[in-house]
Amino acid sequence: MKIIASNFKTNHTRKSTASFIEEINGFLEENKIENEVIVFPTATSLDSFSTASNLTIGAQNAYAVDKGSFTGEIGTEQLDEFGIKTILIGHSERRHILGESQENIAKKYEFYKSKGYKIVYCIGEPLEVKQSGLEKTLEYIYEQFVGIDTNYENLILAYEPVWAIGTGVTATTDDIIKVHSAIKEKIDKPLLYGGSVKVENVKEICSLDGVDGALIGTASWNANDFKQILENTKE
Ligand code: PEP
Repeated sequence: MKIIASNFKTNHTRKSTASFIEEINGFLEENKIENEVIVFPTATSLDSFSTASNLTIGAQNAYAVDKGSFTGEIGTEQLDEFGIKTILIGHSERRHILGESQENIAKKYEFYKSKGYKIVYCIGEPLEVKQSGLEKTLEYIYEQFVGIDTNYENLILAYEPVWAIGTGVTATTDDIIKVHSAIKEKIDKPLLYGGSVKVENVKEICSLDGVDGALIGTASWNANDFKQILENTKE
């Protein structure tokens, strides 16, 4: 059984998210697809979808608090209201565009771990690191585990090379196998690949040794494409 996750980023309205969830939920039921499916919509669309019976809705981000004076952020008081118990932490856009440090990320991780959330934790190297070789790439990735309790029972990892996210350039199967097997040797947790996964390559990627599923942005935003992805990865 594969884990297939969709990251909406800053796409879809409440209305289009609702119809996407309804369509995918129905599709999973009709086709008896047993993959674990997680959808991360925008924060404005987290409500009312907790009833989606065949898939899980997760938050793309939240602050490491229950509530308080943190303008622009949401905490567990808001997530609990919608039954959200899954969160994405360490995504490269939050690290590199929103400037989240490893220290902040680790704090967030510890907090959501203490609340028992399922955490999808992202790691991955930028292009210049990839170009300096596998050893440097792994060193960079291991730095992203500083402060992270990798024994946490509710942890799913996602290897997402920064240069592959949203670029259309997918890592080669060789790259994926090498990085995944190195991570898996150290950490025995489900490990997804993310970075320009598409309808056409999802099956091959998900069948590689050490790949337990995929975290998908762009190619998952259209419900028909996402259905095809689910079809292509069912076992
Ligand atoms: C992502 O946002 O996690 C991602 C993998 O994006 P994309 O599939 O568009 O590369």
